[in-house]
Amino acid sequence: MTGTDANGVAGHAPSKPLNELFCNLPTTIFEVMSKLAMEHNSVNLGQGFPDEEGPASMKEVAGQALTQFHNQYPSMLGVPELRQAVARHSANHAGIPCDWATETLVTVGATEGIAACMLGLINEGDEVIMFDPMYDSYVSMARRAGAVIKPVRLALPDFHVPLEELAAAFSPRTKLIMVNTPHNPSGKVFTRAELEAIAALCIQHDVIAVCDEVYEHLVFGGAQHVSLRSLPGMAERSVRLGSAGKTFSFTAWKVGWVTGPARLLAPIIKAHSFLVFTVSSSLQRGVAHGLDHESSFYLGLGPSLSKKRALLAPHLAELGFGILPGHGAYFLVADVSRFLRPGEDDAAFCMRLTREGGVTLIPISGFYIGPNPPRHLVRFAYCKDDAKLLAAVERLEKYLGPGGPGAPSKA
Ligand code: PMP
Repeated sequence: MTGTDANGVAGHAPSKPLNELFCNLPTTIFEVMSKLAMEHNSVNLGQGFPDEEGPASMKEVAGQALTQFHNQYPSMLGVPELRQAVARHSANHAGIPCDWATETLVTVGATEGIAACMLGLINEGDEVIMFDPMYDSYVSMARRAGAVIKPVRLALPDFHVPLEELAAAFSPRTKLIMVNTPHNPSGKVFTRAELEAIAALCIQHDVIAVCDEVYEHLVFGGAQHVSLRSLPGMAERSVRLGSAGKTFSFTAWKVGWVTGPARLLAPIIKAHSFLVFTVSSSLQRGVAHGLDHESSFYLGLGPSLSKKRALLAPHLAELGFGILPGHGAYFLVADVSRFLRPGEDDAAFCMRLTREGGVTLIPISGFYIGPNPPRHLVRFAYCKDDAKLLAAVERLEKYLGPGGPGAPSKA
């Protein structure tokens, strides 16, 4: 490509290949669906951000911090107030003692924590085990860091861990396993027995666990969040990720944290120092206040989400969606086999539903990296106002209900 720049000089775009991995990444299904949702003014239950915001006191503390403190680079590791609050939170809620001075790092959301873990822990050719389906940022960053990904598919309908397959995925080259509980996109909460089996394999094969526990407080229906890092023998070989976006419904703040033993944290901190160096200090102070003084907010998230799920699920079941079990995060996975037209898959169904039915969901196949993903499942993000959930139900009834244009044929 050529063009003329401000100096009147004809320039040539460089012809050498840019980074292959990132150049070849397709547009994510989230971008595709969000764009389509905007074009069709649909009720968007695709993107997983809550309608309700976190505690007002946290905004006040963050706002005051902006005017009261020196607005210069805070410590690369995070402001002491937040690191101390993160350490207390780890001990009080996950049962994992934590030395704030040597075992905490504040990151730009859990997203940066994930990137820093991959870059800091992986060497070229290391094998990394990930459960399929998975949150989409894991794979690209791990591959960019040189990892060979070994996906292990969670088994339907309840996304349980297939223990024999998991054991078979470990090899002498396995460096790391990613464990996300409560799980995006399924809403599954890993059971203690599953986590104990994972821990035993990590110890047997000398493997590190990166525990993505951003939804740790979003649990209900009798399930209990257990941190893999809290199990015997795991504290020294795992790091744990948290997020103010999920714990306080402040997804725009992009404040997260990594806790873990100093030896594992050291290279993660080095990666963090070159990715972002540090994190907005006023927001960090707001989050510190929240962790120490607003526990009622995050402890209330589970019951409130449970009610929302109970509001949505019966309507969906009545319409013919097959509801898969889920006890955490804010995602509900449903089987849409009954609605699929010949040759249609989950992605095509979600596009049709947005265009014709005015409701946007996310096809689950987009969360898989292994071959032949299921193509009959969709994800609802139900962390939305009740009015929005009911508006979605009304549109679904009109479109997919008896006599509607998308109603399943009787055959
Ligand atoms: N992990 C999981 C499983 C997530 O679902 C998300 C956000 N959707 C993140 C990490 C990223 O969190 P943050 O917004 O704090 O970067």
